[in-house]
Amino acid sequence: MTLHIPFDNSYARLPDGFFTRARPTPVSAPSLIAFNRPLAEDLGIEGADDDPLLAAILAGNVGAEGSDPLAQLYAGHQFGGFSPQLGDGRAHLLGEVVARDGIRRDIQLKGSGPTPYSRRGDGRAWLGPVLREYVVSEAMHALGVPTTRALAAVRTGEEVYRERPLPGAVLTRVAQSHIRVGTFQVFSSRGLYDDLGTLYDYTVARHYPDVASPAELLERVCARQAALVAQWMSLGFIHGVMNTDNCTLSGETIDYGPCAFMDSYAPDTVYSSIDRGGRYAYAAQPDVIVWNMAQLATALVPLMPDQDGAVRAFTEIIHAMPDLIRSAWLNRFAAKLGIAEPEAQDAALIADFLDLLHRGQGDFTNGFRALAEGSARDQLTDRTAFDDWEARRRERTGPGSEALMQSVNPAFIPRNHRIEQMISAAVEGDDRPFHHLSAVLARPFDDQPEAEELRRPPLPSEVVPATFCGT
Ligand code: AMP
Ligand code: MG
Repeated sequence: MTLHIPFDNSYARLPDGFFTRARPTPVSAPSLIAFNRPLAEDLGIEGADDDPLLAAILAGNVGAEGSDPLAQLYAGHQFGGFSPQLGDGRAHLLGEVVARDGIRRDIQLKGSGPTPYSRRGDGRAWLGPVLREYVVSEAMHALGVPTTRALAAVRTGEEVYRERPLPGAVLTRVAQSHIRVGTFQVFSSRGLYDDLGTLYDYTVARHYPDVASPAELLERVCARQAALVAQWMSLGFIHGVMNTDNCTLSGETIDYGPCAFMDSYAPDTVYSSIDRGGRYAYAAQPDVIVWNMAQLATALVPLMPDQDGAVRAFTEIIHAMPDLIRSAWLNRFAAKLGIAEPEAQDAALIADFLDLLHRGQGDFTNGFRALAEGSARDQLTDRTAFDDWEARRRERTGPGSEALMQSVNPAFIPRNHRIEQMISAAVEGDDRPFHHLSAVLARPFDDQPEAEELRRPPLPSEVVPATFCGT
């Protein structure tokens, strides 16, 4: 057996209205770009990289034994406007496995052909977004961020047409589930309350088995999302498309379409070419996640016998969220300064460093890393101000602060210009930059002198000002 995936499918047993059974569309010449062996092992998946059948299965050409492919239905607010029907338009859930850690995970192909939810789309993905998601989601995992993972990437041997013909590819994505705020919204907005109840029961059983009420589920999801967004902020990560269909109940980061890490620090940074109003700018993310959780709350209300009471209780949970985010933010950023036990007034110390970075157009990642390395002064233009600030910081740190800083301030992030260079090379058939980037980003907190070049911010000529959804 080339690829043995120990499928144990539960979503496929949910009512018909939750999905449509659909098979991936075969492609002409599948070839493997990457197979994530450590992840495969964690999932109990066995396969040999050099077997041509592996690529055929991961491209959707050959059905994996035990899979029951389907496209999931969901809805979602996209840039604030409600789309009553979205769904997997270019993805197939092959099934689920229970991994070695006991947690159930989805195995999904993305870019695997049209489904009943494709609307005008071709059901395909081009190489660029597939490799971006592979590299960035795996980097996020190595940075300790809850995220979907990348199990494999294959070329299809076919072209897809975007602005121009581009090489097609399929990503194999692994997730604790693909249940989104938009999955609750689709049943709630249609008045399908039995299905809504079924989805609630399924979600609780799968992700929050100790939860006893919709209010408690909401509270738990809010807590995970608050922690997640605070962690994104602490890494300079900009998701770029925080629509409610890209917001999971599990609390994992999902959808790496137009995402990017900031180079020089500026709170209003936006990369996504379609985010013209800056709705999903770096500094807007804490507000957006609260808004998204309010949409989840609204979708959950019909589950409650006393709806007025539910609205009051849910509103309270949503109103508590900014404080949750603030406190998670304080913990994350204080650690970046080497402060193990933050106090409320450390927020000002953090803000002052961010302000120094902002005024001096300092690099976010390197600026924080330099604090641990003792070279931050060289990174900043206003050195007198830095010296004053550094004296204040030192009063708040104790023994072990350097080690703390090294463990939370990465040396390596997937910089946007490196991603673009990696994609350009892969389009020309050279996958070495992809493999090099992946290998270095697997150890983002380690000094890797031989990869120093990947720490460098972009030269003016290398700056990538915009990212594209790449649909
Ligand atoms: P996304 O921007 O990736 O979150 O996708 C938003 C919606 O558009 C989802 O329902 C996708 O399945 C769908 N979609 C995106 N790209 C395509 C495509 N190339 N073909 C069909 N559907 C797509
Ligand atoms: Mg999406």
